[in-house]
Order: sequence, then structure tokens, then C-alpha cells
Amino acid sequence: MTPQQLTVADDLVVSLDYTLRLDDNEIESSSVGEEPLQFIQGRGHIIPGLEQALYGMAVGDEKDVVVLPEDGYGEIDESGFQEVGREFFPDEMELVLGASIRVRDDAGEVYTAYVAKLEDEKVILDFNHSLAGKTLYFNVKVLDLRPASDEELAHGHVHSSEHHHGHDHGHDHGDHDHDDHDHDDHDHGDHDHGDHEHGHEHHHHHHH
Ligand SMILES: [Zn+2]
Repeated sequence: MTPQQLTVADDLVVSLDYTLRLDDNEIESSSVGEEPLQFIQGRGHIIPGLEQALYGMAVGDEKDVVVLPEDGYGEIDESGFQEVGREFFPDEMELVLGASIRVRDDAGEVYTAYVAKLEDEKVILDFNHSLAGKTLYFNVKVLDLRPASDEELAHGHVHSSEHHHGHDHGHDHGDHDHDDHDHDDHDHGDHDHGDHEHGHEHHHHHHH
């Protein structure tokens, strides 16, 4: 009953089915048939262009939303490209253009980079988000709305019923780290830059 009377507003937990297509109309990702995307509205948990478009939608409402790069994952940042000597890659590692590579720094943080260019002595890695510079075509449907609990508001994330959430907060960030949330890390310019700088400093440790 109540969910039908609500419309998307700040501090509501939104359950959203979404399908994301790119210019070529190919499906980039979709929650349909999987778990819906769940987030607290108004916290910048999803890309700004999509979050803005959701205000006022009711449960059951469906919508097409076009998000330009500046309201999505940002423009491609030239400083996100870096050259790495071939000698830093293990011999057995096959380097393929466009392949994603995981780079780990000393702190154990893992970054994803894409092989942007292959030269005789060097490999150019692209640390930009794979959706940077792209226009995003979403189809979204609001599946459920409910007020976030005080605890959720304090933590700044949704506590889904399926995942037990311990008081110790040893914390299920794993739960939150599926693809949709991965995107979150790239939503904010601040994070992007931090990530890139970090990646730059430590790129030579990728062979660990
Ligand atoms: Zn929590």
C-alpha cells in the first residue's frame, strides 16, 4: 500500500531495475533477472544524471533516461593514461589490446586498467572508467520505495534483508561491491582523481 503512495525523494531506499545501453544499442549491463539496484536516493550513490531523473517517480513507473558523460562517468581524463615498460609484465602474460588488467598497489588496493596501446617496449594502460566519455541510455523501472532506517542513513548504505549485517561492521562492503556499486567509486571527481594518482604511484607493482 504505502510504497505506491511514495515517490522518489531524498533518504528513500530505491529498488531499481535498470538496463544500460550505449550508442551501439548493445546492452552494457542490466539488473533485469538479477538483483535490483538498491541505494539511498540523494546521496550520490549512483551517477548524478540518473539520480536526478528519478525524483518524483512512483513504484511501477518506468522511464528512459539519457545521461551525458559529464553527468555520468565523466569525460576521458588524459592523465588516466600511463606508460608501463613491458618488463614489468610477467613473460607469460598475454597482452591484448582492450583487455582489462588488475593492478595492485602496496596497500592491496586493486585498480582496473585497460590496455590502450601496445608498443615495442611499452604498454599504455588506461585507468579511466570504462564508461568515461560515453553517453548512457538507461531504461529504469522503480520496483520499491521505502524510507531508509536510521541505521542505514548513519552508515550511508542500504542494508538489504538478504545479507546479514553484523554489528561489528567487519563489514560487508563485499556485498555492496557488485558492478553497480563499482560505478559508485567513480561517480565523484574526488575519488577519480585519488584513484588515478594512487594508480600512478604504484603501477609498477602490478606484477605482484
Ligand atoms: Zn552498514
